[in-house]
Amino acid sequence: MSDALPVVEVEGLVRRFGELTAVDGVSFEVRRGEIFGFLGPNGAGKSTTIKILATLLEPTAGRAAIAGHDVVREPLRVREAIGIIFQDNSLDDRLTADQNLYIHSLLYDLPRDVYRARADALLEMVDLTERRKGLVRTYSGGMRRRLEIARGLLHRPEVLFLDEPTVGLDPQTRSAMWQHVLRVRDEGNVTVFMTTHYLDEAEHCDRIAIIDHGRVVALGSPEELKRQVGGDVMVVGASAAEDVARDIGERYCVDVTRADDGLRFQVDDGATFIPRLTADFQGRISSVSVHRPTLDDVFLKLTGRAIREEEATSKDQLRMVARAFGRGRRR
Ligand code: ADP
Ligand code: MG
Repeated sequence: MSDALPVVEVEGLVRRFGELTAVDGVSFEVRRGEIFGFLGPNGAGKSTTIKILATLLEPTAGRAAIAGHDVVREPLRVREAIGIIFQDNSLDDRLTADQNLYIHSLLYDLPRDVYRARADALLEMVDLTERRKGLVRTYSGGMRRRLEIARGLLHRPEVLFLDEPTVGLDPQTRSAMWQHVLRVRDEGNVTVFMTTHYLDEAEHCDRIAIIDHGRVVALGSPEELKRQVGGDVMVVGASAAEDVARDIGERYCVDVTRADDGLRFQVDDGATFIPRLTADFQGRISSVSVHRPTLDDVFLKLTGRAIREEEATSKDQLRMVARAFGRGRRR
């Protein structure tokens, strides 16, 4: 197969669960050798899409192919062509790293000498050579994830799928994980398809598809997407937020969104806008900041919501708990 052909092709993919449409007509292509990211909030349809691509779930409509093989008609071919790492740890923790890899090599019918050579190289790559004879039970979360990467690559897949691979890992381990993923791509010439709801992680991807309510709302490199937002992003704090938002919108003809950190809107040049704003709204605003657009701004612009809404929700739940215990009523 030629390098120019996309290694993942998805066209009009739909998946319903009863009344619910989890994946709603998704189309995209992944180029060979790139890191492609699916970015979206919880419930957007990321895992459902990955499961369909990995032949674990049938689509309701549309088609998908991996390395030229249709996921519905040639599932075995597809399985040979992919490695997959789910959010939940799927290692046998009563076994050692070596034993986990060996079982995987049996599943894929790898000759013993091939298995040995690859296991050595992969364990080296993920920095687990010294601990290879230790029980997985004794591993940290980051070590387990690295072992899963090694295992996912043992049969030399063309595409490695990672579903939220860094959820639950501390920031340092997350960043180490990324070094490994980048290495997998560069050294193994593997295409990486991953999902995440961390905006900062999506920055590592060559291209990302932003997915919301089962639909791709934007697709491109992180830079391209941020350029779509254009200009600078202003974040303004105000106690009478509603009134100030309306007045800013009317005065400067901008769309003002209320976000966690304040009122947000875009202007062409933030630096010259600040003095004008502070003069016009003297006494009505408490803070002003300006930044270059982030992927969060892209998401906000496209959907009117922040991607971290579920985190806001959990904050609200905490507040409710606090209230139930008689605290948090101060205002
Ligand atoms: P994400 O991975 O982006 O968080 P999912 O693909 O897991 O989202 O889920 C998309 C939507 O489909 C959610 O509303 C979820 O509750 C629903 N869903 C996922 N799997 C099932 C299932 N097996 N049965 C019913 N609903 C499901
Ligand atoms: Mg998911």
